[in-house]
Amino acid sequence: MQRQPEMAEIEIYDVIIIGGGPAGLTAGIYAKRAALKAVLIEKGVPGGQVAITKGVENYPGFIDIGGFELSDKFFQHAKCYDLETIREEVVAIEPGIDFHSVRLSSGELLNAHSIIMAAGGTSRRLNVAGEIENFGKGVSYCATCDGFFFRDKIVCVVGGGDTALEDALYLAKITRHVYLIHRRDEFRASRILQQRIAADPNIETILNTVVTEIKANEQGVCGVCLKNLQTSEDKDLEVDGVFIFVGFSPNSALVPRGIKTSTTGYVLTDESCETAIPGIFAAGDLRQNYAKQIVIAASEGCIAALAAARYVESRKPVGKHSAIERETAR
Ligand code: NAP
Repeated sequence: MQRQPEMAEIEIYDVIIIGGGPAGLTAGIYAKRAALKAVLIEKGVPGGQVAITKGVENYPGFIDIGGFELSDKFFQHAKCYDLETIREEVVAIEPGIDFHSVRLSSGELLNAHSIIMAAGGTSRRLNVAGEIENFGKGVSYCATCDGFFFRDKIVCVVGGGDTALEDALYLAKITRHVYLIHRRDEFRASRILQQRIAADPNIETILNTVVTEIKANEQGVCGVCLKNLQTSEDKDLEVDGVFIFVGFSPNSALVPRGIKTSTTGYVLTDESCETAIPGIFAAGDLRQNYAKQIVIAASEGCIAALAAARYVESRKPVGKHSAIERETAR
């Protein structure tokens, strides 16, 4: 019979961070500053959604910075503390009593006293021709990030929820004209937003209509093909940009049972970002929070790492406390 390894024989990290976006990388910086044995696992390029954003103009300290450049700065900052990183996919989180485990696609199992889930989320796609090809060339999923690039231009917004209407109002202040295209004859968004949309002379609403194709030339997006679902009539519309807000899905596939989530899949935590399972934290776009912004993801990464450090230290023998107390006191 195979002998079970003793606790002392198992390599146990203090914290495993899943996700290399602003939340995960900030958690990595704070974890290393708190002298934790930490590893960050990211299946793609570091930076998450930010790395594929054209420009960022609302991260404090940077008036205008490329999304890739900003995420690389986060990565380099984490690396300067020697944060260990693994480029692989996590396939499962297995909560335990003495420690938690993370299973990688290779089959390897990593153990840790605490886990920070920072896997982010993904804007839902329309799945029409021209959408993926023109991402960053006129197709956007973030008005706050990209709206400024469409000053005095004509754009369309697709969707009928709060995000679509809020962002149409935001874009109406910057752009020359906004078409708001929705597939039904009534919006899902709140009444107050609907009233503001109706009162805004710069917004033209097109209902019962879907975008069937996004067209582009060498300069980028130049128009959309529309279909009226009631009359089946097809129509072309000239636009310089297409903002798609048809929902956002948290990357919650890994969230283990026992952790509470909202009806839409966002992880519910307390104010220290700790979930219903002690030692497992969530930060950034995966977490139920007020807004999906880089600065918020980064701040939640900080909170989760400090709270994880406190959790880890509380499980260690007396006399080992110090780094986290110094860090939180600053
Ligand atoms: P959402 O409420 O899920 O709305 C998505 C919209 O996209 C719906 O109008 C839907 O149409 C439409 N849609 C979905 N798939 C489509 C497709 N393939 N083609 C065309 N249209 C499609 O998403 P959200 O607006 O991102 O909001 C997500 C959550 O955050 C909501 O609970 C929302 O209330 C909340 N939120 C709140 C605020 C705020 O309180 N200030 C701001 C933003 C978001 P149908 O209506 O026909 O289904």
